[in-house]
Amino acid sequence: MAKPILYDQSSESFQAILRELGQPSFRLNQLEEGLYQHRYMSFGEFSTLPKSLLGALDERFTLFPLIKEKAITSRDKQTEKFLFKLQDDNFIETVLMHYEGRHTVCISTQVGCPMGCVFCATGQMGYTRNLTAGEILSQIIYCMRRLAEDGKDLTNVVYMGMGEPFLNYEEVMNSIARLTDQKGLNFGARRITISTVGILPRVCQFTEAKSQVNLALSLHAPNDALRSKLVPSNEFYPLLSLIEASKKYTDYTHRRVLIEYALIDGVNDTIAHADELATLLRGMLCLVNLIALNPSQDGGLKGSPREKVEAFRDRLMKRGIQTTIRLKRGIEINAGCGQLATIQKGK
Ligand code: SAH
Ligand code: SF4
Repeated sequence: MAKPILYDQSSESFQAILRELGQPSFRLNQLEEGLYQHRYMSFGEFSTLPKSLLGALDERFTLFPLIKEKAITSRDKQTEKFLFKLQDDNFIETVLMHYEGRHTVCISTQVGCPMGCVFCATGQMGYTRNLTAGEILSQIIYCMRRLAEDGKDLTNVVYMGMGEPFLNYEEVMNSIARLTDQKGLNFGARRITISTVGILPRVCQFTEAKSQVNLALSLHAPNDALRSKLVPSNEFYPLLSLIEASKKYTDYTHRRVLIEYALIDGVNDTIAHADELATLLRGMLCLVNLIALNPSQDGGLKGSPREKVEAFRDRLMKRGIQTTIRLKRGIEINAGCGQLATIQKGK
């Protein structure tokens, strides 16, 4: 049996553990400082705690739950992908992207994903399990430490790696609480984005939490018939219900929603589709983020050529919808959107 993870424990549970070990209460601060300010990844790094306490903690807990199995850097050095082994021998991937003055980590929330979107490599590998808040945070901590080696700071966190964050709502929200807490990683909520395929009840719950975390909705089609073919969950949570929920998010938070739309050659990329999308999004405070579909295992679907992507953008803009084209990143190392997949245990 794997030991519980230290980065999964709350302040309350630390207090209880320290009490049980007969430690004075100031140790709590030292322990939390070590985890969240110094971002320690091994017990040996704690210099302020007595050896006996570290030994007792080591016996009961795993400090850092990720083992780096592999790191690959793209040719232009702008994208790094890490393959991490978890305590139960499952694997996840995390991507660190460097832009001019900006460093963004794309984190995973599940091992695999049960949603089965036809264009997504993660979706095709099936679902194994949810990650814990500590496993989610550890991906961020690893990348913060990696950047610190070069004197750089992490500027953005996107929950856009493997898995559907809103199917792991509690652990994802716990990870965000610790990420944004002043005594945690003290990271600004507005620099965090959660991307969802649209799990309606959770979108509503997230809205009601009135968090300043950004919401991204993966749309990919302007009508239900087409979206249901690409994104099976659309059968349960159809487009209009998601658009309504997104508008409510903006009402509550005054923040715009990011609409993600992967352009698939000959499938969802015509001017008529752009018009239909513009009509659907009318009156919504949003930014459409277009990306030509990245190649995944399924050879059947191809990304739209550049001219079509630009024409789609121009049409949306003409119809008054703010639109950007997403920079392609890390494609040759399979670190682009929807390309994250690992071989599952036993397969
Ligand atoms: N499950 C969440 C977050 C992870 S997927 C979601 O679906 O939103 C992150 C983003 O990558 C989503 O917008 C998803 O639709 C997109 N994506 C998946 N496969 C892709 C591909 N092959 N090319 C481009 N984007 C892809
Ligand atoms: Fe899961 Fe998102 Fe991939 Fe769909 S696109 S299969 S929801 S990770």
